[in-house]
Amino acid sequence: MGSYCHRRYVSRLFQNFVKIQPKAKSDNDLGLSCNSHKLMLYNDIVAQSHAGGFHLLPLGVRAFEKLVKLVDEEMQAIGGQKISMTTLCPESLWRQSGRLAAAGAELFSIQDRHKNNYCLSPTHEELVTKLVASMPQISYKYLPIRLYQITRKFRDEMAPRYGLLRGREFEMKDMYTFDASEEKALETYNLVCQAYNNIFDRIGVRYVKVSGATGIIGGNLSHEYHYLSDVGQDSILLCDRCDVHMNKELAAENGNLPSKCQLPATQCELLERNGIEVGHTFYLGTKYSSVFKATYQNQEKIMKEYSMGCFGLGMTRILQASVEILSTETSIRWPHLIAPHQLYIIPKKDGTRADEYLARAEEISDAFTQRSHLQGEVIIDDRMSMTIGRRQVDADRLGYPYIVVVGVKALENPALYEVIDTNKGETSFINYEQLMSLA
Ligand code: ATP
Ligand code: MG
Ligand code: MG
Ligand code: MG
Repeated sequence: MGSYCHRRYVSRLFQNFVKIQPKAKSDNDLGLSCNSHKLMLYNDIVAQSHAGGFHLLPLGVRAFEKLVKLVDEEMQAIGGQKISMTTLCPESLWRQSGRLAAAGAELFSIQDRHKNNYCLSPTHEELVTKLVASMPQISYKYLPIRLYQITRKFRDEMAPRYGLLRGREFEMKDMYTFDASEEKALETYNLVCQAYNNIFDRIGVRYVKVSGATGIIGGNLSHEYHYLSDVGQDSILLCDRCDVHMNKELAAENGNLPSKCQLPATQCELLERNGIEVGHTFYLGTKYSSVFKATYQNQEKIMKEYSMGCFGLGMTRILQASVEILSTETSIRWPHLIAPHQLYIIPKKDGTRADEYLARAEEISDAFTQRSHLQGEVIIDDRMSMTIGRRQVDADRLGYPYIVVVGVKALENPALYEVIDTNKGETSFINYEQLMSLA
């Protein structure tokens, strides 16, 4: 098992438990804050650096890395190859693609010592197409190419707000695909959408997929994934009867009526809901490959432009948006797969037997972490001067899926452990074997 200490203790966590919890509703922070943002700040999941800039603290990073793992699995299952592109992008590439003006003030621009202009990439179509164009000898036999990365993106948002939901610096998963023809590119498009469905199904928060506007990215086919929530800044039009699912931005581009609505107005039950845009897919055609001369060799050894697609997921936005939807006003609830730790063990405080309770908690932690999928998943609340109840309150507030109390019954024979299933709100006493099959 290696020589490093695999046990994790709450007392050593970079987290401050002595803050006063803000009243969820009373301090509206000029509308900059929402429930999930407050919960994540107060519980030290994130910390603010400056307007629209947030640090991820240890628990935030753990949750984020779990989301990365989940997304990596689904991207690699469809042949995605992970790369990591530079953040700095020569501004000339944005001029070349014709997007410099459209990106406008949202683009962070900087100059190097030689007075060359760069931007901090808000998205990577230019850079990735140039990268692929640098290998023009690629044969049609090796297509499709599906590249993705999970990196920081920079956007000087007009109104950064709601913490990670709209930051000026945020983590995005972006995939770029290169196919031999429109037909093949549309197959890829559907495959990536299926991977997105898998990702959102596994996260477990209800989502809707809608037709989206193509905005500054361009192209002519696009879908968005949304979590429905009052704090969402997009308006989504939904009607299950006439099958309209679209962003209102797109409905506006079509003229006011959603074009797909075939029902008479009286039968259409069109609803308008606020949505948090958590993912966006685009079919791009040859918009970028023609600008940057990104070509492959076809069967006749003729150079052909790629048909491209691009696919974004707002990683840090998903993290907070899922907390926004699942949590209560005072307690965080995580999607099971991305909770920072699965098990939280509280050994009883006791003047004479505290050492025994703690030792039993450590034994259990060791037994759990023998199993590879639980490495790092167990945390022991070793704040031994505090009552069980007080520590349970913290554990519940932080939303750990299982809280295990090592109390008096745990030192009896046979030993019994109190387990709280945080998401179900159920408490039960179980024996050692049942405990070990918990997670
Ligand atoms: P929005 O409409 O919310 O401004 P967008 O349409 O400009 O987002 P895209 O260019 O489609 O965003 O980027 C892909 C994904 O990146 C979005 O679907 C979203 O999940 C995420 N994202 C975009 N802007 C931000 C931001 N400022 N903070 C966090 N995540 C963001
Ligand atoms: Mg935007
Ligand atoms: Mg949008
Ligand atoms: Mg978008």
